[in-house]
Amino acid sequence: MIFLKTEDEIELLRKSNLLVGKTLAEIAKVIQPGVTTAELDKVAEEFIRDNGAEPTFKGYPNPYGGVPFPASVCTSVNGQVVHGIPGNVVLKDGDIVSVDCGVKKNDFCGDSAYTFCVGEVAEEVRNLLEVTKKALYLGIEEAVEGRRIGDIGYVIQQYCESFNYGVVREFAGHGIGKDMHEDPFVPNFGKRGTGEMLKSGMCIAIEPMITLGNRQVVLENDDWTVRTKDHSMAAHFEHSIAIRSGKADILSSFEYVEEVLRKN
Ligand code: MG
Ligand code: MG
Repeated sequence: MIFLKTEDEIELLRKSNLLVGKTLAEIAKVIQPGVTTAELDKVAEEFIRDNGAEPTFKGYPNPYGGVPFPASVCTSVNGQVVHGIPGNVVLKDGDIVSVDCGVKKNDFCGDSAYTFCVGEVAEEVRNLLEVTKKALYLGIEEAVEGRRIGDIGYVIQQYCESFNYGVVREFAGHGIGKDMHEDPFVPNFGKRGTGEMLKSGMCIAIEPMITLGNRQVVLENDDWTVRTKDHSMAAHFEHSIAIRSGKADILSSFEYVEEVLRKN
């Protein structure tokens, strides 16, 4: 069931999502060779709680029957695609790390992800990040009243596959509201004119997961981390948005992150 949000509810979603954007910026400040992913998690959890919110990922039930998610952010390094668990992994020069963050405040959720470069990253990999982020914004351009869910996936898939990148199909975007994951399912592939009709007030997260190699993924032994089967690098960018007529309203923000990255 898809819940349409009122304007008041959309403003609460915006507050939560802006807090996610600011949390990702706190992480951007400390990402560098030598830092562990557990340290990134600590920065995030403190910042989220200091701002009167809950980290929604912490304790999230495991869909495969394993332990609930033990941390406040997902940190997925290099060939890890999504749902990486922060730990004693030391980031090194040339790595990339996707940080996915979710919060709940005033009963409404925020969810956004950004893939960061650690030190100097190969041009081929930087291009993957640029294309994945661009694909996210192309998907957002489709996310307006009267279009369909399939239109979003179609443009993301077409754009990324034109670079011969892999488009991960097993994981997708989703509705967002009082729950972090609501209907509808928002795949990163699809056909134009298919799927649910988009209506004003629908709020969704769009999150392309794109690989340098083929699109196949496997689950690691921790029952959480999803990585590329061929160990190729993977990128992940996510915004939460509200559907409107004419133009989507982006509720999350990369501006705080990118302001930090420009200074670094
Ligand atoms: Mg997310
Ligand atoms: Mg999400």
